[in-house]
Amino acid sequence: MRSAVAPNSRRKTRDGILGVISAKRAEDFIVELVNLPTDFRDEEDERVLLSYRRIASHYPEFLRGDEEILKFSQKVHRLLYHWSCELKFVWGKNERDLDWVAFRMRDRYMRESNVLVHHESTLFGDIVIGGAPPITPFEAAIFYFQTQLAPRRQLCPHPMCPARYFFRTKKGQKFCSTKCADLARREAKRRWWNENLGKGA
Ligand SMILES: [Zn+2]
Repeated sequence: MRSAVAPNSRRKTRDGILGVISAKRAEDFIVELVNLPTDFRDEEDERVLLSYRRIASHYPEFLRGDEEILKFSQKVHRLLYHWSCELKFVWGKNERDLDWVAFRMRDRYMRESNVLVHHESTLFGDIVIGGAPPITPFEAAIFYFQTQLAPRRQLCPHPMCPARYFFRTKKGQKFCSTKCADLARREAKRRWWNENLGKGA
């Protein structure tokens, strides 16, 4: 599948993805979403609540498909949790899995926001026709992820990294930041030092 705009084109930044959001905004949203904590035991945990509230207030346009969503914070919480788990899942998966899950995310969002889909009744039941439904910021972001960002997805190998899921900006980049790379280098050096000093003693 190809995006309507060529990768790295200037037009993409100026006009936005499919005319609704900027590429930077989509990338920032995806990174923040995939890095949300999802392995918590207590959903009322203050740290967890804060990060969920933060993304909901910083990126309201991605939740606006359904006005109901904005009224129920529990619903927002659950929605963000599902999206984050799904993105985490596809981060380490092959292109086919990624394509499948990303499409399902777009499809479910469309269904839940009651966007009209064109279909036609036939002898054997309804068939979907007429292409994609009207674009929403969420769908644009996931579409952009699926078609453009995904090949740059990377997991920072530093175990204490505060945001392990990221998009690399340079070829061969392993760590999310120079901070993580420096820490890892320092730790490796200390390990080497300890091991060699241990041998010498
Ligand atoms: Zn890192």
